[in-house]
Amino acid sequence: MNLHTSVTTIKGVGEKTKTLLKKLQINTLEDLLHFYPREYENYKKPNSIKEIQINKINVIQVTIIVKPEIIRKNRLIIIKTKAKDITGEINLIWYNQAYLKNTLDINTSYIFRGKVEYKYGQLTMTSPKYFKEDDYNKKTKSLQPIYPLTKGITQKMLRNMIKQVLANMYNQSKEHLPINIRNRYHLVEYNYALEQIHYPENEKSLLQAKNRLIFDEFLFYQLAIIMMKKQKDTIKNQYILKEVLETQHLINNLPFDLTSAQKKVWKEILQDVISEKIMNRLIQGDVGSGKTIIAGLALLLTAKNNYQSCLMVPTEVLAQQHYESLMHVIRPYNVRIGLLIGSMSNKQKKQMYEAIESHEIDIVIGTHALIQEKVCFKKLALIITDEQHRFGVKQREALTNKGIQPHTLVMSATPIPRTLALIIYGDLDVSVIDELPPNRQTIKTYVQNTSYRNRIYQFIEKEINNGRQAYIICPMVEESENMELESVIDYSEKLKKQVSKNIKIAYIHGKMKSKEKNTIMEQFLLNKIQILVSTTVIEVGVNVPNSTIMVIENAERFGLAQLHQLRGRVGRGDFQSYCILLSDSKSKKTKERLQVMCDNHDGFVISEYDLKLRGQGDMFGIKQHGELPFKLGDFFKDAYLLELSNRAAKQILQKDPLLKNNDLLKDRIKTFFEYSNEQIPL
Ligand code: ADP
Ligand code: MG
Repeated sequence: MNLHTSVTTIKGVGEKTKTLLKKLQINTLEDLLHFYPREYENYKKPNSIKEIQINKINVIQVTIIVKPEIIRKNRLIIIKTKAKDITGEINLIWYNQAYLKNTLDINTSYIFRGKVEYKYGQLTMTSPKYFKEDDYNKKTKSLQPIYPLTKGITQKMLRNMIKQVLANMYNQSKEHLPINIRNRYHLVEYNYALEQIHYPENEKSLLQAKNRLIFDEFLFYQLAIIMMKKQKDTIKNQYILKEVLETQHLINNLPFDLTSAQKKVWKEILQDVISEKIMNRLIQGDVGSGKTIIAGLALLLTAKNNYQSCLMVPTEVLAQQHYESLMHVIRPYNVRIGLLIGSMSNKQKKQMYEAIESHEIDIVIGTHALIQEKVCFKKLALIITDEQHRFGVKQREALTNKGIQPHTLVMSATPIPRTLALIIYGDLDVSVIDELPPNRQTIKTYVQNTSYRNRIYQFIEKEINNGRQAYIICPMVEESENMELESVIDYSEKLKKQVSKNIKIAYIHGKMKSKEKNTIMEQFLLNKIQILVSTTVIEVGVNVPNSTIMVIENAERFGLAQLHQLRGRVGRGDFQSYCILLSDSKSKKTKERLQVMCDNHDGFVISEYDLKLRGQGDMFGIKQHGELPFKLGDFFKDAYLLELSNRAAKQILQKDPLLKNNDLLKDRIKTFFEYSNEQIPL
């Protein structure tokens, strides 16, 4: 069994299943092995009814005492029955499973597993799974995997396929780690880990398996990063730039002085681009620290050296905004700037492609439309990506491939603790803007429950009467895209009834057409709109200095890092700004977490708290961090494994810098990064 072969080599898997599996990113047998369970079903020994825990999943062994009956309610078919044991009685209900009426026999004992709640004052188990005693007992021996599914692929199908691959993999899939590394870091064997991650014998072996596989993920990543860095360091600079007068002129004519941190970073960039080596630099700076102007200087410098450059940002709103503000500051220097975003008409895009290819444009600002195949630069010497953490490695690399080894500058406000950042961005030199412009007032931050909402509206009105503006981040809805829309519209309608008629309210959300979004942002910037009700689309980058209030509904649903980013939309001008976190959560942990926002204003400090306070089930994990390819590993939760694997990576490379004696390891790293081999020097 060759693990690189298609899933169709499994008995019973045909073209149809193959297409469905593709949706889960499963193509080969190897992919199946690394398609890890989302969670595990623990087949515990049944409890008695008396021992039931309300609002939790329970397992009970009971006898059915009422013949299952069908009740129809609108379009729903409800199956209802009653069961008992010697300690009590319980109702059992299912929806739309009419066949159960003839499957479940009265006066017969079953084991049921499902969530129990009080409904109309009675204990009720909803949609439980049911088992005969013997069947259940067979399952109690191990934890059963639960895989993420897609339509047409059932749990049973996946389990069967994966079981088949597991049963046949041993002669194929060999251990790739040197034995000394495994011993040193107490790692279980690779095949054993794979087997146990799918079908753990017990909790302990599951933990060992997870540790091993997370260690691998981190190790692969770091080996690649360290080798990438080494390779990049050898690349010769083909675009040695000269200092120009225009950048200094721009600095001298800004309405403000650069902070010393900005000056320091600008100097570091200059040193890079005039040197023999190409620049690969990350600028890390908290929200509002003034990264945009640094990007502007680098773009201007490149243009005045008669080369092209581009700036890629994650949203169209942000692209438009950067375009306009850079036009304002750079245009006077006789530089040609273009915008390229997905919502432009085909004709406009075509014109822009031509202008880029013929070097009629010096600087292009855009979204990932910039990495379209049709975009060909004539003399691309510098690539800047803003809000780096929103992009995947693939997207960043696709852009790099547009030029011949251009300089790259990536900017990020991603509040990752510094020690971790050094590991994630190990292939880049890091500059930190560790200072905010002067005269910035601390954003006064409060946590309130929703009974304060009306008073907050009154406060917003007062601020608006003083000429200011406000953002309200709407309750988040996960269920569907349409709900997101309804929630902002709904909210705006209600809000309109609460504030004076002369206050203009608009809403913006992710599913809106870009043109509409841009128009609204423009009007907001011009203060033609005073309150902007929004989903998190405005989270990154948006700069409207006249906005002084940020209200966040359901604040408990956000991670600290994200709250910090959202808060960063205010406090960008000279006015006192406010951030109000609304939450009705009673949980002590949540209150503690939100309080962190009131007491802290430094993104890096907040990120350290995130690391400490972060519980499982936090919705916005670092996994959403576009940069990271990990399936199991969590940079925060598994920080200790990250450090261990960092040590291991260095030890391995010290002995074998190009992994010449570790072919298998090299292969596994390649598989791990499915993207082009080019940028991983293996
Ligand atoms: P970010 O680092 O979050 O991208 P921006 O570049 O958007 O921050 O800058 C935020 C605001 O601060 C902008 O309005 C910008 O003009 C202003 N700004 C930047 N540098 C300075 C400075 N040295 N002094 C005062 N204001 C500044
Ligand atoms: Mg920015």
